[in-house]
Amino acid sequence: MVEDVATQPIEGLFQLQQSYFATGKTRPLIEREMTLKKLQTLIDEHENDILLALKKDLNKSETEAYMTEIAIIKDEIKHLLKNFKKWAKPKKVKTALTHFGTKGVQVPEPYGTTLVIAPWNYPFQLAVSPMLGAIAAGNTVILKPSELTPNLSAVLVKIVNPHFDSGFLHVVEGGVEETQQLLEQKFDYIFFTGSVPVGKIVMEAASKHLTPVTLELGGKSPCIVHHDVDLSLAAKRVAFGKLTNVGQTCIAPDYLYVHKSIKDDFILELQKAIHRFYGVNPIQNETYGKIVNERHFNRVKSYLKDGKILFGGNVDQTLHKIEPTLISPDRLDSPVMQEEIFGPVLPILEYESIDEVIDFVNGRPKPLALYLFTKDAELQKRITTTISYGGGCINDTLMHIATPYLPFGGVGESGMGNYHGKNSFSTFSHYKSVLKQTNLFDFSFRYPNAKNGLKIIKKLMG
Ligand code: NAD
Repeated sequence: MVEDVATQPIEGLFQLQQSYFATGKTRPLIEREMTLKKLQTLIDEHENDILLALKKDLNKSETEAYMTEIAIIKDEIKHLLKNFKKWAKPKKVKTALTHFGTKGVQVPEPYGTTLVIAPWNYPFQLAVSPMLGAIAAGNTVILKPSELTPNLSAVLVKIVNPHFDSGFLHVVEGGVEETQQLLEQKFDYIFFTGSVPVGKIVMEAASKHLTPVTLELGGKSPCIVHHDVDLSLAAKRVAFGKLTNVGQTCIAPDYLYVHKSIKDDFILELQKAIHRFYGVNPIQNETYGKIVNERHFNRVKSYLKDGKILFGGNVDQTLHKIEPTLISPDRLDSPVMQEEIFGPVLPILEYESIDEVIDFVNGRPKPLALYLFTKDAELQKRITTTISYGGGCINDTLMHIATPYLPFGGVGESGMGNYHGKNSFSTFSHYKSVLKQTNLFDFSFRYPNAKNGLKIIKKLMG
């Protein structure tokens, strides 16, 4: 039965989901498989709607929208369909010597009712991807997309609400008020993607019910370019990472640290890469994205005064477009070097000794991503073992997010928990540990006042 509860109060919807979960309908593997396949078909059928909405909300070009939003989801569904039954099986574990005769298993079980709260920058991918993991693990889902991308949010409603029982899967549109009402409910799991301040609100609300959370947050992700790189190739990959979705990417290189000896040449190569991607006037280029709204446009624009503009710097208030801009920051305590930029403005710092870079990054909140460009294997090892960050690439940007084989998530202020591929399944599963005892014999040493009990325990357990 498919109900329309678009006008239903949030509390009622939540209760419907609790009741639905209690029926056990989300658990059978065949049901999960059918739901994933149905979503796969619905997404295929709505591909044009998704592309159109992304064009309207963020001026995403078809290629970029397909690559960063739709293809990733298609790949994730295929990966889940291929593997989730294997992941859902109880897993046998070893038995300790003291437990001779027993069998140990870990049984994955769904948490129950889950809430997925999504941001606006990849409004399709970041809403659907966690939902897929929750379904594969056997949960119900209420999905709350961002109010800042209303066209895409409406497509999500169209894809989900008429086709699934609202007790099972339902999209709730809205902003702060609706999200806060949702957060008052006693969900069994909350998966939040968004900013650090709202992440804290979500965690505080979750703590009232002791609801576990995954927080996929943001921050300032450094990109280090050493003197031994192929400048043209590295510049192309840095520009790609910074300008995809015009920098409105949680894992975009936020600022560059370039070795002093190649800094000027690297800046020239960056300019060439930008021209190659978007021509000499990116703002007029139809495939160059826009900043999501006036507030964010003004915020990103304000960073242009925080240093010397090395390249770019033009803006179009009407189109909400900001040119790809390279900037040499005046001070390290200026907003452009303190706040997450989330736009096409790239501050460039220089270093002579890598120690300066390590100290600088380690002195700040742990980043969501870090990128290192170098051929030096020792340096690669040093950076990956001395700086704590969510994840990243060596000699590339962004690509670590686009594979189901690498878990994606932050650490410290950039978040907690991770997902994608198997980790999407395990994030939404509780692993119940079960010990099955034998009745064929019974060791007496563990019982009170057993003969030689202490001696045997010391021998077996050390
Ligand atoms: P946001 O935190 O403003 O909003 C995220 C969601 O929270 C939205 O659905 C919004 O409606 C809701 N929300 C906003 N204010 C709220 C409040 N006071 N109470 C309850 N709910 C509230 O984030 P955003 O602007 O949509 O996204 C940008 C941020 O998200 C950046 O910091 C970026 O780095 C981060 N981000 C992280 C990832 C990741 O995977 N780690 C991915 C994308 C974006």
